Formats: sequence, C-alpha cells, structure tokens
Amino acid sequence: MSALSPVLKQATPVLAERGEGVHLYDTSGRRHLDFTAGIGVTSTGHCHPKVTAAAQEQVGKLVHGQYTTVLHQPLLTLTERLGEVLPEALDSLFFANSGSEGVEAAMRLAKQAAGRPNIVVFQGSFHGRTLGAASLTTSAAKVRSGFGPLMPGVAVAPFPNAYYYGWDEETATKFALRELDQILATISAPADTAAFIIEPVLGDGGFVPANTAFLQGLRERADRHGIHLILDEVQAGFGRTGKFWGHDHFGVRPDILVTAKGLASGFPLSAIAASEALMAKAWPGSQGGTYGGNAVSCAAAIATLDVIKEEKLVENAAERGDQLIAGLREIAAAHPASEGVGGIGNVRGLGLMLASEIVDSEGNPDGATAGKLLAAAAERGLLLLPCGAHGNVVRMLPPLVVNENQIDEALRLWGETVTAVLG
Ligand code: PMP
Repeated sequence: MSALSPVLKQATPVLAERGEGVHLYDTSGRRHLDFTAGIGVTSTGHCHPKVTAAAQEQVGKLVHGQYTTVLHQPLLTLTERLGEVLPEALDSLFFANSGSEGVEAAMRLAKQAAGRPNIVVFQGSFHGRTLGAASLTTSAAKVRSGFGPLMPGVAVAPFPNAYYYGWDEETATKFALRELDQILATISAPADTAAFIIEPVLGDGGFVPANTAFLQGLRERADRHGIHLILDEVQAGFGRTGKFWGHDHFGVRPDILVTAKGLASGFPLSAIAASEALMAKAWPGSQGGTYGGNAVSCAAAIATLDVIKEEKLVENAAERGDQLIAGLREIAAAHPASEGVGGIGNVRGLGLMLASEIVDSEGNPDGATAGKLLAAAAERGLLLLPCGAHGNVVRMLPPLVVNENQIDEALRLWGETVTAVLG
C-alpha cells in the first residue's frame, strides 16, 4: 500500500472536502473558519462562483495550450488585464506555475540583463524551495539544510526587523542600510551584483513589514550601482495588505515584480513583470516551461481580477485588516509576556496579513506554545498557520472576501484560544 511521504506535514487535522468563501468543510461535514486561505492563495474565497464558472468554461474549451508551441486567448487577455494593476513601467510579462519558478525566472533575467553573478537577499526572507530560490531564502534553516551546496553568489543583508533587534524602526533601518553598504564594499561589489530581492512584507519569515525609508534606500542604491530591484510580491501582493501591491505602502519602484498565490485564486500560476527593455535582455530560449501560463489558470486569474475590482476586495482587506489588528492588539494587551509567564510579544502586519508573535517570559521565541495555540484554535474551528524561524509567530491571512462578522467570530475564537492556552 502506498502513502503520502511523511515529509508532508499538515498544520491542521482537517481532511477537507469542500470550500466555500472563508469556510472549509471536512469530510464529517464540520465547518472551519479558514484564516489560512491556502497560505494566502484563495483571496476571492474558496470556489468563488465567478472564478469557478470561468475555470469550468475554460476546461470545456482548452486546458493546455502550451505557450511556447501556441498562443491562447486567456494568456493574451490576462497579460493585457494585468496592465491595469501593475506599475506602469512594468509592461512586459512572463508566466510560470509557482512562486519559486517566478523567483527563479526573475533571478535569471536580472543576472542575464546585468551580466553580473550575485544577488543580495535580506535576512528572514522566503523566496521558495527550488535550489536557486532556496539559496535566496533565509526565513528558516530547514528550507536550506541537507541539500547543499546551495547556489553560490548570494549575500545576506539585514532586514530592518525592529522587533527582532529590540530597536525602533529608524535605528533598525539605519543599521540595515549601513550593513548593506558594508556588504557592497566587502562581499558583493556592485560590479558583481545583479539584483537585490526583497519581500515588501516578510511572509514565512514572520510577517514583518519593510518600511519606506529602507525600500527607498534600496532603490537609491540600485539606481546608483545599476543593480536591479526585484520585489517578491508572491505573498504580499494582489490586495492582501490592503493596497494592491505590498510595495504600494512604501512608494518604491521595482525593476522586476514577482506575483503568484492570490493571482489565480488557487489555480497554479505565477508571473514576473518588468519593462519591455529589461525583458528584451533575457537570453533567447532561457525562459519557458511545459505548463507555464496554463489556460484554465489564466481564465481563473482574469475572473479573479474582475472579482477583486467588483467586490472592492482591496478596500475590504484594508478595512477588515483594521478591525482584525485592533482586536488582536486587545487580546495581546491582556496577555503580555511578563515575569514568569510567556505571552504575545508583538502584533504586526498590514491589511489582512497579520501576526501575533508568541514569546516566553524572557521575550524569546516560543514555538512550542505557538503550536499549542494553533492546535487549540483548530479544535475551536479556526484554522491558522505558524511562521517565523522558530514557528512562534501565529499568522492570520483570511480570504479577502472576509466580512465584519467573520472577523468578529475569528477574534472571539482566538481570544478563547489564548485564554485557554496562556491562562
Ligand atoms: N515567495 C514568497 C514571498 C512566498 O511566500 C512563497 C511561498 N510561500 C514563494 C515565494 C514560493 O512560492 P511557491 O510555494 O508557489 O513556490
């Protein structure tokens, strides 16, 4: 008898049968409030009727129109429609299937265009699990361990993670920019550096937003040295943070943007966007793939864009995010970490990308207690995910269709969970 590899571990005990909006239903018919959205993917909710209808219609017409063999209409339409939401200068698109593939494509483009070998990444980032993307990932050692040597030519600079350092944001930002300059002076000279790659909000690394001064600092150095700025919007993009792109909070201009997850409401699809002039520097035949730009995924992505616009999901993410963070802060205030007892050390995030960091009585990461909280929340019917290097950050990233009552319900369940576990 064959079985799933034990390497695949589930964060919840749910055997999912169907999904509808913010809810998942298991095989016993029990309803769960899904504040994971499939790791930030099902932004329009599970099985949104418009997305489902678009995909069903496409399945009956053409499933696989292999895009280096033929063109197909959903690919062309989606390419045009993404122009409505992308920064104006990023008018050329390449499609793949997953976030990791998108990151690999962005990196390959940057290296070929610059004719330089190195990439600078920022501590705590998650960019994927394929060898190149894993080599750029520093959110947790488990992603990098055991299959080295990794790709050479990666230098790791600090992320302005104020809570982690125990500093204010300005101090953390100054430190991070100074260290970046030091890296450019000592480890990866500008003449060797093809790109900086960064998430506008650290995702798997702990839901830590970057800030305007830091990203502007990267932009300024990128311009000065001819380095490409790649923004990985795989988790923070597509409305998740209450603006369309995570970087919209910080007024920074990317050279290459990577998107996936919320792009197609659950169908596998990723894309990179750059200016046509930059894309033209990719070496012929260097990008492609059997399944990239799948016709059903593209049809679902077009419907996703329609739903986001019609239902004002970006605005909803901002409003419901305000409601959720206010409630999370109240719960955290009632359970601070203090002498002898652990608690919630920090609540942070943007829009509907919010997290509570669980620490012990000395302020150290407490993954074991976070694990108990996740299990206790799941018992109550609230599905959540961990993140952070120590699994001690409890993240909430519900579908962007979540309404006021559902946020209230999640806060009530989280409050009960915290009281039950932390006392
Ligand atoms: N970049 C970011 C910011 C991500 O959050 C993820 C997935 N968690 C990836 C890249 C990799 O995406 P995928 O799992 O689709 O390869």
